[in-house]
Amino acid sequence: MKILIAGGGAAGLCAAAAAAAEGASVTVLEAGRTVGEKLSRTGNGRGNIGNTDMDAAYYNASSRMFVAELFHAMPADSVFGFLRTCGIETRTVDGRIYPMSEEAPAVTANLRDAAVRCGAVIHTNAPVRSLSKREGKFYAGTGSWTYEADRVILATGTSAGCRDRDAGEDASLARSLGHSLVPFHPALCPLRTDVLKGTSGVRVRASLTLLADGREVMSDEGQVQLTDYGLSGIPAMNLSGTAGDLLAEGRNVRIRLDLLPSFTEEEAASLLGERTAAGIPENAVLRGLIPAKLIPAVTGDDQSLAERLKNISLRVYGTAGAAAAQVLRGGIPAEEVDPRTMASRICKGAYLCGEILNADGLCGGYNLMFAFAGGILAGKQAAHA
Ligand SMILES: Cc1cc2nc3c(=O)[nH]c(=O)nc-3n(C[C@H](O)[C@H](O)[C@H](O)COP(=O)(O)OP(=O)(O)OC[C@H]3O[C@@H](n4cnc5c(N)ncnc54)[C@H](O)[C@@H]3O)c2cc1C
Repeated sequence: MKILIAGGGAAGLCAAAAAAAEGASVTVLEAGRTVGEKLSRTGNGRGNIGNTDMDAAYYNASSRMFVAELFHAMPADSVFGFLRTCGIETRTVDGRIYPMSEEAPAVTANLRDAAVRCGAVIHTNAPVRSLSKREGKFYAGTGSWTYEADRVILATGTSAGCRDRDAGEDASLARSLGHSLVPFHPALCPLRTDVLKGTSGVRVRASLTLLADGREVMSDEGQVQLTDYGLSGIPAMNLSGTAGDLLAEGRNVRIRLDLLPSFTEEEAASLLGERTAAGIPENAVLRGLIPAKLIPAVTGDDQSLAERLKNISLRVYGTAGAAAAQVLRGGIPAEEVDPRTMASRICKGAYLCGEILNADGLCGGYNLMFAFAGGILAGKQAAHA
């Protein structure tokens, strides 16, 4: 069985190692200078490759059924069992799974070497520019060469986090096989919002609630970074995909920033009252409760101090863009792929895996888990189909 894999990222390398281990003749065509360039940058170079708390609820709403079925066909234990056969041992920190050395480039190198050991051939600087199917065979053109294959696995990812890649090309190969496309927009991305004067650079443990036309949509809590254009940090990134969906619907999107998430408003008022009663002067009542740079931004308003600390309302204007994002929402609709095999329901003999599909997860290893599971499944299935 001759299998051609377009894209040598997290999903493509897993597919290559899995298909080659099943005895298929595998060729990987990778557009970049090296395989796994993005994978090697994940988790700030540490590679957060999974999470002990796996649930389809951590993926975008339209993909949850697909994600649940995929992880039924390829459970997390099987994914990590496969990674171990590739030489990847793990450690878990607060539920987040990392390679034991906490070096993402080692994950890339181990996957690449496992694929090559099983006979896969990898070509870099080899962008697939055209793809067609004639009389049961696939033909992939790079400009200088045309490759023929019995099966094709599309694992070309998206332009999230890439400065040198044109987002218009994302999913173009799948489109040429007849797939449709849900338009891409950044998810896991900093947000452009109203800014609190003089607070750029502040990091604070806080809760963010996303509101659309005044209605609460979702919340997340953790370390928030205030920037000169808006909000960053994991909570802001986790809300960004849905914020993008709501903005595209033309809604009035706001974030409620809560600087004292472990207190109710009444508890916060009572704490501030106790501090005042203890003789702490007004200008020092917030000292040590919130970062000093934030204090001028929350005082001197009409609201009570406790109310203001828990209800800073910021308008959301958009995201910081695809190059600043960790993943893009959108892509090939999950319904066009069979989650039990990753086979295309549109073009027989084609398989799709990884971020090219419209299934994005929260921060915490969910996107790599999705890419690995889909890649392994696609590789195994394509080798025997
Ligand atoms: C900075 C950053 C940090 C991240 N950290 C994490 C993390 O810690 N945990 C986590 O779960 N997720 C993380 N992610 C998300 C995760 O990296 C992606 O979801 C995952 O890499 C997607 O895998 P993929 O194989 O589908 O796509 P990619 O890894 O993007 O691989 C696709 C490959 O296909 C190649 N390609 C594209 N078009 C063509 C073509 N026409 N022909 C040939 N090759 C082509 C590309 O060059 C690329 O190498 C992070 C993302 C970024 C940007």
